[in-house]
Amino acid sequence: MAAPVLEGPSTSTWTNWVGNQSFTPTFGAAPLDEQEVATLVRQAAERGVGVRVAGAGHSFTPVVETSGLLLDLAAMRGVLHTDPVNKRATALPGTRVRDFYEPLWDAGLALRNQGDIDTQHIAGAVATATHGSGTRFTSLSGVVRGMRIVTATGEVLDVGEDDPDLLRAAQVSVGMLGVVTQLELDVTDAYRLREQVGLRSWQDVMERWNDLVADHRHFGFFWLPSEESGALYNLQGHGQRMTDQCYVKVYDEVGPDVPDDDTEGRRVDRCYRIFPMVYDRNFHELEYFVPLEHGPQALEAMRELMLSSLPDSVYPLEVRTVGADDAFLSPQYGTATTVISVSGKPGTDYWSYLRSVDALLSDFGARVHWGKLHFLTPERLHALYPRADDFIALRRELDPEGVFLNDHLRPLFA
Ligand SMILES: Cc1cc2nc3c(=O)[nH]c(=O)nc-3n(C[C@H](O)[C@H](O)[C@H](O)COP(=O)(O)OP(=O)(O)OC[C@H]3O[C@@H](n4cnc5c(N)ncnc54)[C@H](O)[C@@H]3O)c2cc1C
Repeated sequence: MAAPVLEGPSTSTWTNWVGNQSFTPTFGAAPLDEQEVATLVRQAAERGVGVRVAGAGHSFTPVVETSGLLLDLAAMRGVLHTDPVNKRATALPGTRVRDFYEPLWDAGLALRNQGDIDTQHIAGAVATATHGSGTRFTSLSGVVRGMRIVTATGEVLDVGEDDPDLLRAAQVSVGMLGVVTQLELDVTDAYRLREQVGLRSWQDVMERWNDLVADHRHFGFFWLPSEESGALYNLQGHGQRMTDQCYVKVYDEVGPDVPDDDTEGRRVDRCYRIFPMVYDRNFHELEYFVPLEHGPQALEAMRELMLSSLPDSVYPLEVRTVGADDAFLSPQYGTATTVISVSGKPGTDYWSYLRSVDALLSDFGARVHWGKLHFLTPERLHALYPRADDFIALRRELDPEGVFLNDHLRPLFA
């Protein structure tokens, strides 16, 4: 097969899934394998053109944007290998989270945890530290044990546990170290979950916070500021009043003796059938992470802010937890976190609201989700992420010309 050649200018505009980011790169390419990726990156670097990769486009921030070469790795998809003895799975970068389900289950394995949706490419989800809920688990980045990365010179770098600093930098890199062409994940034995969902008062949830966090494999909730809130995220109130209520979701592992869908009507099923939710493209999300122990205080302040500053707010406040890891740019670096998300309504000017959320949560030492709207400055980056300098040093060593930077990332990481 002929080697791919950069041809441009491209006329196709790339738009993310929710539609708040779009741009037209000069070049576009959809390589079929690692060798093609390397050839394309080399050509771009020789021409002084920047390179970014598009995953499934589910980030709200301009993390994909480039005026140079945009790579689409959707064809580099699939689970390559499962290892039930060492509990490992190896996959191509464009493998969607949902593509892991059957191959892992057939090998007696499963992802340890996952987020609210399963359409992300694994490389995209890992690049931004995509997470689910539960302090016993890290984000998807925290379970990465190896990667292959095409660097700015077009060389392939094997990243593994023998170079812990490089691995910790690569686990959450927002695409800045190069093009990820393969990932090895730590997985677990296949498990089934029982879901319990229901409305509880704010006071009840706050009083029982420590138990809810400690006693369940997964605990999270949506606080609903108005009657319409639930419908926006497809949450059912079953006729109950929803205003100022918490829609609580708890998942626990069950043994083989528990039948699917138990006698009380609670869903019991393979883990991967319980985790995913259905979202409409009607929200623009900001998500911040505060140290776990500050959660209740930060949440009280958030509820107060939403009731006082945005009385007509209809978007729920989503609350989750994530366990600690040691990836340099991870929001969970060195600490478990309480995760707090809010959303603006597309088509409205929600920026002052999001800025007031940013100001409030900054007082609690909040770190940001790289894929969701945020207001991080270089000063805050260095104050909040103790290994930011180490990440930047490695980034400069691997990519001194900044081939993999873009206008959104350069001010923070050049
Ligand atoms: C409806 C919805 C629900 C969501 N739920 C959650 C949730 O529960 N938990 C959570 O944490 N987040 C959640 N997110 C955010 C989402 O998981 C992240 O933004 C994630 O990065 C999206 O993955 P993607 O494949 O769409 O990547 P993209 O958004 O396309 O890209 C993300 C980053 O990865 C880089 N990248 C992608 N592939 C490669 C590669 N092969 N090599 C190098 N860099 C690469 C891109 O350049 C970009 O910087 C949600 C988003 C939406 C829209």
